Amino acid sequence: MQYVSTRGQAPVLGFEDVLLAGLARDGGLYVPQSWPQFSADDIRAMRGLPYSEIAVRVMLPFLGGAIAEDEFRAIVKDAYATFDHAAVTPLVQLDQSNWVLELFHGPTLAFKDVALQLLGRLFDHVLAKRGERVTIVGATSGDTGSAAIEACRDRQNVDIFILHPKGRTSEVQRRQMTSVLSDNVHNVALHGTFDDCQDLVKAMFNDVAFRDRMGLSAVNSINWARIMAQIVYYFTAAVALGAPDRKVAFTVPTGNFGNVYAAYGARSMGLPIEKLVVGSNSNDILARFFASGTMSAAPVVPTLSPSMDIQISSNFERLLFDLLGRDGAAVTASMNRFRAEGKFEVTEAQLAQALAIFAGHRVDEAGTMATVEEVWKTSGYLLDPHTAVGVASARAAGLPADVATVILATAHPAKFPDAVEKATGHRPDLPPRLSDLYVREERLSELPNDLGAVQAFVAERARAAKEAA
Ligand SMILES: *Cc1c(COP(=O)(O)O)cnc(C)c1O
Repeated sequence: MQYVSTRGQAPVLGFEDVLLAGLARDGGLYVPQSWPQFSADDIRAMRGLPYSEIAVRVMLPFLGGAIAEDEFRAIVKDAYATFDHAAVTPLVQLDQSNWVLELFHGPTLAFKDVALQLLGRLFDHVLAKRGERVTIVGATSGDTGSAAIEACRDRQNVDIFILHPKGRTSEVQRRQMTSVLSDNVHNVALHGTFDDCQDLVKAMFNDVAFRDRMGLSAVNSINWARIMAQIVYYFTAAVALGAPDRKVAFTVPTGNFGNVYAAYGARSMGLPIEKLVVGSNSNDILARFFASGTMSAAPVVPTLSPSMDIQISSNFERLLFDLLGRDGAAVTASMNRFRAEGKFEVTEAQLAQALAIFAGHRVDEAGTMATVEEVWKTSGYLLDPHTAVGVASARAAGLPADVATVILATAHPAKFPDAVEKATGHRPDLPPRLSDLYVREERLSELPNDLGAVQAFVAERARAAKEAA
């Protein structure tokens, strides 16, 4: 299995190199040269298998032999043993034709754990084989930092530094990061804003000498292996509901387009999927694209579903690559235009091709709250605000009643207790694994908003730097 860049100018790479590279050298995103194919019989044969076994079957072709099957099975089992539900991603029925796929049973209560728990272990495995170490640096406004830290904690060949703006994350978010006391985890409370944190991370990557000496790397949402890990639960959910012999659709609350692109991957591998409904909050760049064929940026507005408050859906480039006939030069032209003018468009035929698979819906704040309230009243189920955007979008999509519709629940309601309580009068409890979060010991370092100070902090602690010295 080989991977090509969406911009067509970077070297074709195998799985291990794609895993460690993240972004391609030409600025593009890596995608498989061709999709592995599963027949209807292959899919039927998944019925009744545990999550980890379906995961091995679905992901093995993407490795191209880079990791032996038994070794890979052990890594997968270890990754999903961190989830506190035996089914890993269980389905819950909401009404006659709608199910919620709970992706929040991992260590940080959000769906990013599904991919990151595997990614951290894959990094460690490949680095050990190569005798290399990396230093992960990242900025967080609260949510993604904890998932990355949980993925990297105690890894032999990875050190992780996460910058958060001091005093500007919620207490739960901060404690989820700072109560991880592993030696290779370094939390920095920066005297500054989230944008300051992001600027410092960018500046560290742009300092080529520093980047090389530290072996800087990222585990951000454009990494191919994250998409690969997310393809799995589309198979497990569809098979549990009777696929390939029953019609199934998915509704995905969407930000960066990573999760719903994984669904497109599953469909491209032969899983029959009737429709992929893309749910947006008030930051509706994708909904506007599916309505018009024009992708045009707008300022970000804060919402009740903050993990979807983004202006540019970076993983959309992977779909664009297919819509433009896998022409890297055409993708490059569109992305350059987007950067220069804040917009690009596709032709009517290309839009029609997208709409044969996708539908886009926007759900505003009132609609989000009304959905949390209504579902609580009619089924006694608590939705977090992101998942509520998914449920409302599924309803707006008006799919036929004989289609089993799966809504992806991307966060546990206890991650957003204020909105949930306001809508339902019911404050969700943290699950047992986090019930002592408020009394756990914390460890963090405060630093000024100064590149030199942050670089010195990293250089002193990163094991990759010590070996280079
Ligand atoms: C990251 C995130 C999303 C958006 O997922 P994408 O892959 O970026 O589309 C939705 N909900 C929650 C809770 C998230 O953390």
